[in-house]
Amino acid sequence: MSEPIKIGLIGHPVAHSKSAIIHDYWLKQHSIGGAYHAIDVAPDDLLEKVKALQEEGYKGLNVTIPHKQAVMDICDELSETAKAIGAVNLLIFRDDGSIYGDNTDAFGFIENFKAQISAFDFSRATAMVLGAGGAARAVLYALLKENIFKIKVSNRTDDKAKTLIEDFKPYAGETALEHVFWRGSENHMLDVRLLINATSLGMEGKPEMGLNLFCLQSGAVAYDLVYNPLMTEFLRDVEARGEDIVTGLGMLIQQARPSFEAWTGILPDTNEELEMLLQA
Ligand code: NAP
Repeated sequence: MSEPIKIGLIGHPVAHSKSAIIHDYWLKQHSIGGAYHAIDVAPDDLLEKVKALQEEGYKGLNVTIPHKQAVMDICDELSETAKAIGAVNLLIFRDDGSIYGDNTDAFGFIENFKAQISAFDFSRATAMVLGAGGAARAVLYALLKENIFKIKVSNRTDDKAKTLIEDFKPYAGETALEHVFWRGSENHMLDVRLLINATSLGMEGKPEMGLNLFCLQSGAVAYDLVYNPLMTEFLRDVEARGEDIVTGLGMLIQQARPSFEAWTGILPDTNEELEMLLQA
């Protein structure tokens, strides 16, 4: 019989994470012994702790706030995606002792979107991304891979949105990238077909987004990356107008699939039972 698998998540804090529910569900579903451990690692202990877990026989780790950038220095090799996004959320401990860093958030974002909204014409669409943190960077990367027509970016700290646009220009191809000032960003939604909240606004313990949607056109889709709570005020407002919405739950599950595959060789699927478990 094979040894129980050791996988997990490092972050600080990690108690809030739902990743263990997802991975433990898949381990059980595929009759793989072992468990996914949420491990709180203080920033000063990062290097030492990652090496210790590797030596303990871990197959790899997920990485969350605040370590997503710092772990890049520990990696022997980074995926193109991780380099472009500038953050790693997946570590793979290879048999030769080397560490590979990847980022699965862009995959999770776009897989979930395509699963929910099947007939979206990226080639003619303008998206507006609110936020300029790690999640927004993954969203931009994913949308650029789809050769979307145009992306507008707006963030409370305007300079961060401008920097993000500069960082992604090399990947933009034919896609137009436009900065929109945070104050008054509502006035720039007339041509927006996909409005994405990649800020932490609306999250439990954070203020609501408080966005005035008067300029949003009918037929536009709203996607909120926040998954706690699932139905944010932003999504409720858009839904009340009769437009399509996408919650952050599907992305949470989709972004976990490539990690599980990297560690076990099995690309797992999502299902209603897992979605219910995450909402319990
Ligand atoms: P982050 O790097 O810390 O970025 C936070 C973003 O939120 C920044 O753009 C920040 O603006 C903005 N923000 C925070 N407080 C704000 C406020 N009071 N008013 C206006 N803007 C505010 O975090 P992240 O990793 O990008 O995550 C962002 C959100 O995405 C979180 O809710 C996270 O849970 C969610 N997420 C979901 C998934 C999923 O699988 N569904 C995956 C990744 C992330 P400033 O730059 O001005 O500070």
